[in-house]
Amino acid sequence: MEALVYRGPGALAVEERPTPVPGPGEALVRVEACGICGTDLRIASGAHRAYPDGTVRVPGHEIAGVVEAAGARARVSEGDRVFVAPNVGCGRCDQCRAGRVNLCRTPQALGITRDGALATHVLAGADVVEQGNLLPLPNGADPAAVAVAEPLACVLRGQRPCRIAEGDDVLIVGAGPVGLLHLLAARTRAPHSIVVTEPSPDRRRQAAERGADRAVAPEELDGTFDVVIVAAPSGQAQVVALERAAPGGRVNFFAGLPRDRSRVEVDTNLIHYKELLVTGTTACTIEDCREALDLVLSGAVDTGALVTERRPLSDALGAFEAARSGEQLKVVIEP
Ligand SMILES: [Zn+2]
Ligand SMILES: [Zn+2]
Repeated sequence: MEALVYRGPGALAVEERPTPVPGPGEALVRVEACGICGTDLRIASGAHRAYPDGTVRVPGHEIAGVVEAAGARARVSEGDRVFVAPNVGCGRCDQCRAGRVNLCRTPQALGITRDGALATHVLAGADVVEQGNLLPLPNGADPAAVAVAEPLACVLRGQRPCRIAEGDDVLIVGAGPVGLLHLLAARTRAPHSIVVTEPSPDRRRQAAERGADRAVAPEELDGTFDVVIVAAPSGQAQVVALERAAPGGRVNFFAGLPRDRSRVEVDTNLIHYKELLVTGTTACTIEDCREALDLVLSGAVDTGALVTERRPLSDALGAFEAARSGEQLKVVIEP
């Protein structure tokens, strides 16, 4: 098999590797599509905490493919088309038992702590298969659109505590690929209005084309909002979110901040006197993925429309370059 292998900051290359042979309970998935996101860019630069010095690993956690071989007693069969939910819990800790594999005390994830799918093949371990991370797909689903169900699952997890309802005015801060996914997901809840704020004129245009009622530059932002979602890794955006939240508002800090800039001075009286519900969410569970996949397969959220670049695995480095440029929405590798 071929795989994009990380060997240190900035040191990634497509290499020939032995194809894993699935043991009992395991499945070998032939990758049809794997998305590249900000997490992968952070991994490539050496800034991801799950990739400390000396790590040699294959990234890639937004995965659609076909089961090429199944080990004895595996709960999937050769030829099954699958979406692979990347987060794997230990299955035993309090968080896993509550269904929050993303918060497992010893978290594991394909492409993060284990070899992922920026490769022609990815091995789903027995725990992955057993836990139900391989979700079945119908024939004819576009693998690239399906792969983007993974970030959509994270977005749904972020929106759940925001309880977006009919009369709500919603503000989304940031119109990168994730901000746009928030916009598409919020639209399925039919709120009163959705405003997107974003410094880049090109990204504002993208948001307007995808159904934002208004897409404004940060300095043009006015009014208050029942729901504010911060989809930009910016402390200033978090400050703005608390200021722009209406009384009784729900705020989600969806984007994490760079480790060295995660201390932000906020006026906590805004939370107190407006009775704000301020939430944070990270990654996604298998249940979130199942929900996201339903939205993608039913056409309720057109993730395929966000895929602006498809590249073969041989051009994985070019794909990373394209993703880093900020000119593309979702870049997807089709090995
Ligand atoms: Zn991702
Ligand atoms: Zn656990």
